[in-house]
Amino acid sequence: MKKLIAGIHHFRTNIFGPKKKEFRRLVAGQSPVALFVTCADSRLNPNLITQAEPGDIFILRNAGNIVPPYGAVFGGEAATIEYAVAVLGVRDIIVCGHTNCGAMHALLAPGKLRELPAVGRWLEQTEVTRRIMRENYAHLRGRERELAAIEENVLVQIENLRTHPAVASGLASGKLDLHGWLFELETGIVNAYDPVLGCFDPIERDEVLRPTVAGRARHRGRRRPVKE
Ligand SMILES: [Zn+2]
Repeated sequence: MKKLIAGIHHFRTNIFGPKKKEFRRLVAGQSPVALFVTCADSRLNPNLITQAEPGDIFILRNAGNIVPPYGAVFGGEAATIEYAVAVLGVRDIIVCGHTNCGAMHALLAPGKLRELPAVGRWLEQTEVTRRIMRENYAHLRGRERELAAIEENVLVQIENLRTHPAVASGLASGKLDLHGWLFELETGIVNAYDPVLGCFDPIERDEVLRPTVAGRARHRGRRRPVKE
């Protein structure tokens, strides 16, 4: 805890102090540009990897960056999504998975969950990913299998997002776009799913991202291998 306590004092003195005006402006309200759905993993910092400032992104985090289908669980996820879209009017929703994800490892090896019943029940929310992996990627091993699971899981959550009424309505009116991203812990690269090419590729400087639209091509693996 010492590190965190020192951190809050550093923030107050060296960051909040000089930027007092910007922070005070945020007290009146927020208008984030995007809802960022990602894993609870401590190694993935959404603000750091996008260089977003306070007020820029509304964040929803849980183990495995899972979006339960609407009505399956009336928990924080549905409420956060509804608020972000219907009240804050975000224009984009990003679902960002990451390499070396413990939740995805557990999904691929459910036997390890015997002593973690809550995690096991939570991962049932993404049973679709497990089934896609079992029936379509049984031939993959190691790193390739893990990457396929992370990518398919992101795409499954994008599908689940569409079941949320506020999201469906935003998509119908053209006021909302969905994006599937994958952060590589090893390289710092953020990949985006390209619905035309059907794969995840590094986001280039000044790239205009194609939203992940309905009727997209299915996952066909990445064009470029992950750089270690
Ligand atoms: Zn994770």
